[in-house]
Amino acid sequence: MARYQNRSPVTVQKTEWPDSLWRSTAEPLSDFPELQEDIETDLLIIGAGYTGLSTALHAADAIEQIVILDQAQPGWGCSGRNGGQVHGQWKPDLAALQRLYPGSQFDAFIKTLGDAVELVFDLVDQHQIDCQAQRAGSIIAGKGGKAVRYLTEWSKFWAETGADVRLLDKHASTDLIGTSHYDRSMFDRRGGSVQPLAYCQGLARACHERGVTIHGDSRAVRISQNGNSWRVFTAHGSVKCERLALATNGYTDELWPGLAQTIVPVASMLTATAPLPDAVVSTLLPQRQPVAEYAGVPAYYRVDETNRLVFGWRGTVSGEIGSLNTAHLRSRAVRLFPQIAGTKWEYDWAGYVGITSHQRPMLLRLADNVYAGLGYNGRGVPMATMMGKQLALSLTGQTSAISAESLRAIPLHSFRHIGVSARIMSGHLRDCLN
Ligand SMILES: Cc1cc2nc3c(=O)[nH]c(=O)nc-3n(C[C@H](O)[C@H](O)[C@H](O)COP(=O)(O)OP(=O)(O)OC[C@H]3O[C@@H](n4cnc5c(N)ncnc54)[C@H](O)[C@@H]3O)c2cc1C
Repeated sequence: MARYQNRSPVTVQKTEWPDSLWRSTAEPLSDFPELQEDIETDLLIIGAGYTGLSTALHAADAIEQIVILDQAQPGWGCSGRNGGQVHGQWKPDLAALQRLYPGSQFDAFIKTLGDAVELVFDLVDQHQIDCQAQRAGSIIAGKGGKAVRYLTEWSKFWAETGADVRLLDKHASTDLIGTSHYDRSMFDRRGGSVQPLAYCQGLARACHERGVTIHGDSRAVRISQNGNSWRVFTAHGSVKCERLALATNGYTDELWPGLAQTIVPVASMLTATAPLPDAVVSTLLPQRQPVAEYAGVPAYYRVDETNRLVFGWRGTVSGEIGSLNTAHLRSRAVRLFPQIAGTKWEYDWAGYVGITSHQRPMLLRLADNVYAGLGYNGRGVPMATMMGKQLALSLTGQTSAISAESLRAIPLHSFRHIGVSARIMSGHLRDCLN
C-alpha cells in the first residue's frame, strides 16, 4: 500500500550556511554528496544534527547498513547554530518537573539529564572530536523573587542527590560572572561547553568512519510504505529501508503528516563580539562557564576560546529570521556588561529552537520501526545527543530510558505565532518588574 503519494511536488533549493562564528572557526568538512540513485539500507535517518548522527553512531554496532539524508549538510540546522552550552538542568521549576514526570519517571528523567551531559563529553573523548570542549561547569543565573526560589529549590534538590551543584549568593555570582545584575546563581560542576558545529561535524566524521553513508543536499520530500518497508524520495533518488528515524527537530517540515504540529519552532538569535582585550576578558566569565538565565525572556551567553562574547537571546517576535537584526541582543549584552561598550560585533546568526507544549523532549513512535526524536526546548546539545542513543535502542528493539509516545498535535498549532508573541511580551513584563 502506498501512502502519502498524492502530495504536491516540493521545490528543492540549495540551502545556504548562516554566517556564524562557528562556521568560521570550525575545521572545514568536505560536503557529503547528494543522493542521485535508488538505494536500499537497513536504517534510514532523516536529519544530520546531533539527534540523527548520535542515532547512527549508537545503532552502528547492531545495524549493518545505515544511511543519513540531510537537506543541507551535517550541522546546518540547530546543531551548528546553537550556543554550545552543555547544562544538566531542565528549565521548569522542580514541582512542575515532578508533575511532568510523576512517580519513578521523575528519578529516571533526572538520571537521563545527568547522563546526557556525560554522553556529550564521552563522545568527544571517544572520537577525539576537536571542538573546544570545556568542562569548567555551567551557570544558571536569575534576578528577582521567582528566580531566587527556583535556584534555591533546585540547588537544594541537586545537593541531596549528591550532584556537585551549588547556590551562589549575589556577591559570589558577581565575581563568577562579571556582572552585578543577578541576585543568585547556581553553579553546576557537571556542565560545560563545546564549539557546537565542530562537535556536530566531529560526530559526522565518526559516523563516516563507522561506515555510515551520509548524503547532503538531499531533502526527503515524500515517504511511501510498501508492506513492512518504506521508501523515502529525494529530488534525484530514493532510499528503501526497513527502519526509519526522523531527526529534524526545529526544521521539521510536512514530510510525515502531523509531525510538524507536535512542536513550535521558536527563533533564537546569537551575536558575537570581536576578541575582547585581556583587560576586559579577565572581568567577564574569567573561568569560561556558559551562563543561561532563568528569566521571563532568558538570555544565554559565554566567552569562547577566541575571547569573544557569544550572546544569545530571543529572535524576532514574528519568528522570521531572514533579516537578522540583533540590536536588541547587543544593547542587552552591554547593559549586563558595560565593560564591553564600544566593542565591535562581528557575527550574527539565528536558528529555530524546537519547543514542546509540555516542555518534555519527545521520542515518538510513528509506526512499526519508525520513530522520531525532537523537542529539546533549547537544551539539545546534551538532550539531542542522548535522544539519538535512545532512538537507537528503540530501533533495535531495546528498552529506552525515554518512553516512546504516540504523535499528538499541539492544539491550535496554527495560532502558534500569537502564543509565542504573548509569551515574549509577558516574559518581558516579568523581567521589567524585577
Ligand atoms: C540559536 C540557538 C541556540 C541554542 N543554544 C543551545 C545551547 O546553548 N545549548 C543547548 O543544549 N541547546 C541549544 N539549542 C538547541 C539545540 O541546538 C538543538 O536542540 C539541537 O541542535 C537539536 O539537534 P537536532 O539534531 O535534533 O536538530 P538539528 O540540528 O536542527 O538538525 C535537523 C536537521 O534536519 C534536516 N532536515 C529537516 N527536514 C529535512 C528533510 N525533509 N530532509 C532532509 N533533512 C531535513 C535539517 O537540514 C537539519 O540539519 C539552541 C538552538 C538554537 C536555534
